[in-house]
Amino acid sequence: MRILVIEDEKKVAGFIKKGMEEETYAVDVAVDGEEGLAMAEVNQYDLIILDLMLPKIDGLEVLTRCREKKINTPILLLTAKDSVEDKVTGLNKGADDYLTKPFAFSELLARSRSLLRRGQGEAKTVLKLADLSLDMVSHKVNRNGEEVELTGKEYSLLEYFMRNQSKVLTRTMIAEHVWDYNFDTFTNVIDVYINHLRKKIDKDHPKKLLHTLRGVGYVLKE
Ligand code: CA
Repeated sequence: MRILVIEDEKKVAGFIKKGMEEETYAVDVAVDGEEGLAMAEVNQYDLIILDLMLPKIDGLEVLTRCREKKINTPILLLTAKDSVEDKVTGLNKGADDYLTKPFAFSELLARSRSLLRRGQGEAKTVLKLADLSLDMVSHKVNRNGEEVELTGKEYSLLEYFMRNQSKVLTRTMIAEHVWDYNFDTFTNVIDVYINHLRKKIDKDHPKKLLHTLRGVGYVLKE
């Protein structure tokens, strides 16, 4: 899951990025409305966290242009003051939710998760495939009743596969959803992580779930 944070206040942006990365999300930060809009157009984000008070292009304008350009990514607005008018305008222009500053990270996380689930058309918090299950709230992964210990990145990778079961995922798609803007797609990092993940979820089980399609990508299926 990849998130774009459009926020000019370095402290707030850094706080969100750090917290979200600890929750295994990949996070890009844009420091003004112009940069944010450009990044939203180029990359496939699963969620955009958008501050309203921004230099160059303000948040409401970024929101309006995103929706005009048919960028349907869920958008969570951050409002500096408890301005009812801004919130109503934002929601009318296509924002999905809002949060008033200052906020607790736990609230931002809860709202973000809810929007990410909605974006996937899912209301459930546990994803399942055969005897493999992944809990998106506790981050616990089980195979055949036994807990599988994953690193943050491995978890993030598996969550992306679990959300896209039976779909062929290319390295580009994986890079775009699991890694951030600074990721170098010319490395074999993805293959290395896939191998680690495969060892942990498939190695001791006769039925393999994570399959390689040579020259194409990977697919998680029974
Ligand atoms: Ca701001």
